[in-house]
Amino acid sequence: MSNNSEGMLDKKSFFVSTILDWETVNYRQFPWRNLKDNPFGVLVAEILLIQTFAEKVAPVYSLLMQLYPTAYDLASAQVNAVEDVIRPLGLTYRASQLVSMSNVLIDKYSGKVPDDYDELIELRGVGSYVACSTLCFGFSRRVPIIDANVERVIGRFFDLQWPIRDARTRREMQKLVGQLLPLKHFQEYNYGLIDFAALVCRHRRPNCGNCYLLRNCSSTRWLA
Ligand code: SF4
Repeated sequence: MSNNSEGMLDKKSFFVSTILDWETVNYRQFPWRNLKDNPFGVLVAEILLIQTFAEKVAPVYSLLMQLYPTAYDLASAQVNAVEDVIRPLGLTYRASQLVSMSNVLIDKYSGKVPDDYDELIELRGVGSYVACSTLCFGFSRRVPIIDANVERVIGRFFDLQWPIRDARTRREMQKLVGQLLPLKHFQEYNYGLIDFAALVCRHRRPNCGNCYLLRNCSSTRWLA
């Protein structure tokens, strides 16, 4: 193995173990996290989290789940009533998505969330990120999760083009994200990436001065 390959392996292991270590101290508890046997709750949360800060979603999610805890409850809800609950988040079109998605869950899956990527992605309002998050956090499946925030952290650390502008880099990013996913503790690692992107390697003004990854990061130009 060349020195370069060994260096890359070391860098990957350092990245994964550091994110896991960091997450043990900085894990953010939200009402949709570590839900046991409730993939429906995870799925609804992931839809609400699209383009919205988690802190803002938390009280809305809690109220929504209190009023409509199952697909049967949400399927029979008035869209207007659901809109009223999620209005503080904006993007109220998600109310009709949630109601119609719940109806499909009842019609096709007896009110349960399917444990299958291809079936999940067919549901209204569910894209790749929501499907992967639901599989990982709702079904404990070892699935990598990629969104713009994860791409930013990995792009900066490994010096991959970010924001991604071409198909080749996208493939490279997907491959790398998959390689990094640990065999064990993959849920903690995926939560860790999400939290780290939100709190440390932020879009604007990343906190490089207090970053556990700093000594091996390829993007220290962010240091003021
Ligand atoms: S050193 Fe800065 S750019 Fe690198 S991972 Fe940490 S916060 Fe992100």
